[in-house]
Formats: sequence, C-alpha cells, structure tokens
Amino acid sequence: MSTPAVQNLIDGNKAYASTFTEGHLALPPSQKYAVVTCMDARIDPKSAFGIPLGAAHIIRNAGGSVRDAFRSLVISQQLLGTTDVLIVKHTGCGMLTFDNAVARSAVAKNKGDAAAKEVEDLEFLTFPDLETEVKNDLEWIKSKNVESGINFTGWIYEVETGKVRKVE
Ligand SMILES: [Zn+2]
Repeated sequence: MSTPAVQNLIDGNKAYASTFTEGHLALPPSQKYAVVTCMDARIDPKSAFGIPLGAAHIIRNAGGSVRDAFRSLVISQQLLGTTDVLIVKHTGCGMLTFDNAVARSAVAKNKGDAAAKEVEDLEFLTFPDLETEVKNDLEWIKSKNVESGINFTGWIYEVETGKVRKVE
C-alpha cells in the first residue's frame, strides 16, 4: 500500500542515490564504537553526535535501553570489532511518561484481549528519572562478563538545545 511514508522513501531515496558516492565503505565501523540512543524522532545522531557514514553503529530503541540493545552490542563488539559504547538518553523522553501497566492497558483497550495477552510479560523498560536510568544502564551493562574490556560512557542529549552532557 502506498502511504505518505512509502512515497517519501521512494522520493527521498531517489534524490539520495543520485549523488551517492560512499559505496566503498567497509562493513566494520571505522571508528570502532557504538552509540545506543532513543528512537525519538527529534534526535539526528549522525549530525548531533558527529558520526560520519561507516564510522559507528547506531543502535536505536525506545528509551535508548542497553538491555534492549544487548544483542546488537554483542554482535557489534564480538563480530565487528567495536570497543567503545556511548549511551545517550535525552530530555523529554517518552519513556518518562508511562509504565508497564499503562502500556499494557493501552494495548488491551486498542487491540483487545488476545493482543493484551501477547504483551502481558513484555517489559517496556520505562523509567522515572533520566540521570538515574543512565547510571542504571551503565551498571547493568558493565556487570556482564561479555562486556569486559569495553569502554562505556553515559550521556544526556537535550532536545531543547541540541547539546549533549556527560553523566558522571
Ligand atoms: Zn526517548
């Protein structure tokens, strides 16, 4: 089905491919790092965090959760040689605004009982405090044996200013 999103992809890609010159890039990220950040539509990681094409893995999910990104991080490190992970959460994150119960009841209301059953054990990984969650993510990921020797830092990106600050 053609939707505005489908048409945008077709038109946008046509323009992009007409001037594309980066087909020579190697598979492993050239700068050997990964960024875990939120899927929030207001974040443009490539521009906001200075990432050239081919330089880093950008792993995005709701909230920029390392738990959610764990599978991709292991692949990034063990098969593609990255050694550094930047965890970047952001101000105004949607994950600050609900919890598991709210998400599950929204599914039940919108989609019915069979759908609600499908998500009854799904952990939505919401959080009540931004800085605390960056620290929780750092602690969780650093506790994994498979992550030994990997450098982790935590950051908060401000959607209001475009600035990033380190979480100590
Ligand atoms: Zn977010």
